[in-house]
Amino acid sequence: MSNYLDEKKGFTPRDVFEEASRCLLCLDAPCSQGCPAGTDPAKFIRSVRFKNIEGAASTVRENNILAGICARVCPTEKYCEKACSRSGIDKPIQIAEIQRFLTDYEETCKMKILEKEKPNGKKVAVIGSGPAGLTAAGNLALKGFDVTVFEKYSKAGGYLTYGIPEYRLPNDVVNNEIKKIENLGVKFKFNTNVGKDVLLENLKNEYDAVIIAVGFAKGKLIEDAKNAVLAVDFLRDVKESRGNYKVPSDAVVIGGGDVAMDVCTTLKRLGVKNVTDCIYEEFSEFRASQKELSETQKCGVTIMDGYVPSSFKDNGEIVFKHRVINSEVVIKPSLTVLAIGQKADFSGLNITDKDLTSSTYQIKGTNVFYCGDIAPGDKTVVYSVKTGKECARAIIDYVGGNK
Ligand SMILES: Cc1cc2nc3c(=O)[nH]c(=O)nc-3n(C[C@H](O)[C@H](O)[C@H](O)COP(=O)(O)OP(=O)(O)OC[C@H]3O[C@@H](n4cnc5c(N)ncnc54)[C@H](O)[C@@H]3O)c2cc1C
Ligand code: SF4
Repeated sequence: MSNYLDEKKGFTPRDVFEEASRCLLCLDAPCSQGCPAGTDPAKFIRSVRFKNIEGAASTVRENNILAGICARVCPTEKYCEKACSRSGIDKPIQIAEIQRFLTDYEETCKMKILEKEKPNGKKVAVIGSGPAGLTAAGNLALKGFDVTVFEKYSKAGGYLTYGIPEYRLPNDVVNNEIKKIENLGVKFKFNTNVGKDVLLENLKNEYDAVIIAVGFAKGKLIEDAKNAVLAVDFLRDVKESRGNYKVPSDAVVIGGGDVAMDVCTTLKRLGVKNVTDCIYEEFSEFRASQKELSETQKCGVTIMDGYVPSSFKDNGEIVFKHRVINSEVVIKPSLTVLAIGQKADFSGLNITDKDLTSSTYQIKGTNVFYCGDIAPGDKTVVYSVKTGKECARAIIDYVGGNK
């Protein structure tokens, strides 16, 4: 039986108060400085300590429009929890769990936290509805902008909706946060590929500013791996089917990042008996987060570290060679999934990576801005929230007279 939809249980109110009571209430709190999105854990944990749950929930949402999503998928061990002073005594405060409780509380109690300012007469087009585009759109709508988001798929969310598996990020959580952004008046035009169905040049003329937030939409390929499926396509199909996906008895995954770990755990949750992950790096060099790697190992995935595919034969066999030792392994998998990274697809937009290097998120000499994975920095949801917020701020300054 598939357990693809089962999310792990969150904290009870008792867990939350106990965890908050461990907080040292630091001044100039390192956890708050460690959050790229400025969610301010020190402030909301202090409110929890004083039993002000509504105040805590308001702090979270006002600072981070995608706070319920970040609470579930943020690699906090790299950011706020890494910085937490309590680590010096025993272990960091479980900030993400407290944040998850607060955003669930907000949803259950139907709190209305976000209030928008009156219309300012300015129009912004956003290309792409992933976390970066959504954050920029929501933050601009709060400031009175008339915002339209153009999305090539039929649903909003980018990798929140089409990539991250449901057992880590349920659709309901994503949909509720998108609804909050819609309630601010943001309009969505789905099934609209900018560069093909609509031209960027026309949007530049029609809107005061345009934001490109198209993410890393394309999976990287190995030319010879003709029968392999791309990780992002596989995860999207499984997510769209909500786990009703016909799986083979065995599979090989090629790649060692977090996306590869998601593919492995998804395959196991769907009931695939034998899953082997072949990874270029050796254990000591791993790119995947420790959290994801240990989840993958717990599921019973066989990890072959240091192995690279050297040939894909017509009969379906793949020959793997070790990078360091003299070892060769031949596997004939029923399914091969390639998870060797993603890259941007700028087709029809007439831009290159060189245009995307400004600290003000603006393409020089134009009214075009950008944010999310295509901007320099970490490729995570919380970084997309950070760059989405900063990009919105840059547009507010731009239309305010610094044209
Ligand atoms: C499987 C997977 C698991 C991940 N897990 C995590 C995790 O646990 N934690 C974490 O922090 N990060 C995770 N990430 C990374 C994270 O999802 C990305 O960093 C984040 O989604 C980037 O946001 P974005 O808005 O820049 O782009 P995206 O989320 O890629 O969204 C871009 C949107 O633009 C649309 N678009 C593209 N081109 C056009 C066009 N021409 N016209 C109109 N629309 C267009 C796309 O359809 C898409 O909806 C994961 C990524 C993947 C693939
Ligand atoms: S750094 Fe840790 S202990 Fe200090 S305020 Fe933040 S959560 Fe509390």
